[in-house]
Amino acid sequence: MKRKVLLVEDNPQNRYLITFLLEKSGYEVVIAEDGEEAVEAVPQHRPDVILMDVQLPKIDGYEATRRIKSDERFSAIPVLALTAHSMKGDRAKALEAGCDDYITKPVDIDVLLRRIEEVLGPQPGSAS
Ligand code: MN
Repeated sequence: MKRKVLLVEDNPQNRYLITFLLEKSGYEVVIAEDGEEAVEAVPQHRPDVILMDVQLPKIDGYEATRRIKSDERFSAIPVLALTAHSMKGDRAKALEAGCDDYITKPVDIDVLLRRIEEVLGPQPGSAS
């Protein structure tokens, strides 16, 4: 059983790159392109972990996280915020909104995979 990542990202290039790298690492990836889609995708796809860009159209990543975390069926799903490197305020806001951790953009794939494994435990069948 592949573990499922909900990737919430409005930038098509980032979406393509992160999806490619996660799939190559054995994850199933589902996509949401804005905050509204993210909130709708959670009950629909039941992801194991959510990667949440914070700057998004319609509903931003903070508000989308708040809505997801306020539903007790989904509040245990780890949310990793994707924040701009230069925006220190974004990280505080992300944690305040209920995100479990944050990853700075541009995303370093090794950091990303490590953070995902930290919240999910090592992937079944992986060497570690
Ligand atoms: Mn964005």
